[in-house]
Amino acid sequence: MKLGIDGKWALVCAASKGLGKGCAKALVTEGVNVVITARGAEALEATAAELRTLNPAVKVVTVSGDITTAEGRAAALAAAPHIDILINNAGGPPPGDFRNWSRDDWIKAVDANMLTPIELMKAVIDGMCERGFGRIVNITSGAVKAPIDTLGLSNGARSGLTGFVAGLARQPKVASRNVTINGLLPGPFDTDRMQGMLANWAKRDGKSVAETASERLSKNPAQRMGNIDEFGATCAFLCSQHASFITGQNILMDGGECPGTF
Ligand code: NAP
Repeated sequence: MKLGIDGKWALVCAASKGLGKGCAKALVTEGVNVVITARGAEALEATAAELRTLNPAVKVVTVSGDITTAEGRAAALAAAPHIDILINNAGGPPPGDFRNWSRDDWIKAVDANMLTPIELMKAVIDGMCERGFGRIVNITSGAVKAPIDTLGLSNGARSGLTGFVAGLARQPKVASRNVTINGLLPGPFDTDRMQGMLANWAKRDGKSVAETASERLSKNPAQRMGNIDEFGATCAFLCSQHASFITGQNILMDGGECPGTF
């Protein structure tokens, strides 16, 4: 299936590694020009080189900086002539017990995982509506649907974003202009973040990382973690011409782990 988005411009936030990188790979393969961001310049440039090899016909622009800051967002937005596709992503907040979280911890989580995507949507949505095409995908978490007790900062901040987007995506002046906004909710995906979490759990429980991973994955019906390429492919489909009637949805990719019927 051709996705019909070649020549478009995408801003893929937090994309030197992991899920953001998976999305950038899939979009570049479909002929989309991309601006990719991350704080660390070295990994970002390595990913850009990989993307250029995947499709030498597209433009790949790198912007190193913290997307949760006003300066980081301004630099990312200025790097493309316009943004047709916005993939919102950033690092997730740390786990912990809410008794130990200060107001500053909450502000940081809300800034990164709720207000940053809202600021970026605000910056691009009117242009998308004027041009009659826009695709926004917010990478959130399966924790939006089935909260994870130790990830309270993530549960809270991402639920705030999800609630806000549910209203915005359904505004007729947005939805009728072929501008869609959807959430993509990862369950366990094999990324550096997930490997770091497995290592932490292993240390906490005095087990090996392999044993911890095997125990964790035995709870998943697919008995494995997702990979970034399958995540990217779903993201690219949501950004395609074919997905113009899908908006305001939260698509869970978790190998069936969340036990709900819907
Ligand atoms: P990852 O493998 O650690 O990759 C994170 C990427 O984001 C890196 O490129 C990192 O580069 C960049 N980044 C982080 N903070 C940034 C910031 N403030 N500004 C710009 N770039 C930033 O993580 P991941 O697993 O892909 O996770 C992506 C998101 O999905 C996170 O919010 C995570 O909580 C969520 N999630 C992941 C899973 C999973 O199983 N992997 C499950 C549920 C939710 P730099 O460090 O160089 O900036």
